[in-house]
Amino acid sequence: MTRYEGRVALITGGASGIGKETAKRIAAEGGTVVIADLQDDAGAAVVTEIQSHGGSASFVHLDVTSEDGWASAVATVLDRHGRLDVLVNNAGIGDTEPLEVTTSQTWDKVVAVTQTSVFLGMKAAAAALKASGNGAVVNISSMYGIVGSGVSPAYHAAKGAVRLLTKTTALGWAKEGVRVNSVHPGFIDTPILGETDRDALIAGTPMGRLGRPEEIAALIAFVASDDASFATGAEFVADGGYTA
Ligand code: NAD
Repeated sequence: MTRYEGRVALITGGASGIGKETAKRIAAEGGTVVIADLQDDAGAAVVTEIQSHGGSASFVHLDVTSEDGWASAVATVLDRHGRLDVLVNNAGIGDTEPLEVTTSQTWDKVVAVTQTSVFLGMKAAAAALKASGNGAVVNISSMYGIVGSGVSPAYHAAKGAVRLLTKTTALGWAKEGVRVNSVHPGFIDTPILGETDRDALIAGTPMGRLGRPEEIAALIAFVASDDASFATGAEFVADGGYTA
């Protein structure tokens, strides 16, 4: 497939899990990808993997909580490729505790990485995405940005905020040639699950299995492509039926 020929995509959290599979997918469809992450070695390994399959990829070190870091990362993309067409705000971390024992430090960290990063990223990339003439942003929220779970207050708050930050930015940019949508995964088999009891997650999922990062990557690649050219401000859920 060549849906992404001539297009340049910046993917945060691209060194692991969903971001890694998204980078591989977009590169396999002819796109030029820039992987932005804290993990330099893992990011470089993804670049090598993509290049070994004939794809175009490079890495930029980015802490998504840093406004200066974002300015530098976008400048790097423009220096390397002269354009930016797609931004995938995917980097995120979670909390797992009940509200009563969640520290304000945990709250601040999760909100910074999972929510404020999306604001900073869209702000830093706005001019380049508008200049693209066919820009697309995909913000990775969660099914936990739609429904609660009883714990993880910072994660739910941040992912819910990403959902509406997406919608209001989509409306603001609707006449400027930049589509902005959110993707809401269910339980996906990636390192973010950590020590979580996977059997419990599977039991809670109507389809009776975890999602694969490749399945979310395919959805992200659709949403950011011209195949979704009339979709903006929309939320795309892939959760094995969890929120149905
Ligand atoms: P993952 O842990 O495999 O990948 C997350 C990546 O983000 C890592 O490469 C990590 O280094 C990077 N990252 C973390 N903090 C960063 C920072 N400050 N700056 C730059 N990069 C940073 O997890 P994943 O499952 O692939 O998660 C990707 C996104 O999908 C996250 O936003 C997550 O909340 C969301 N999500 C995941 C699931 C799931 O079950 N896996 C479900 C719903 C939503």
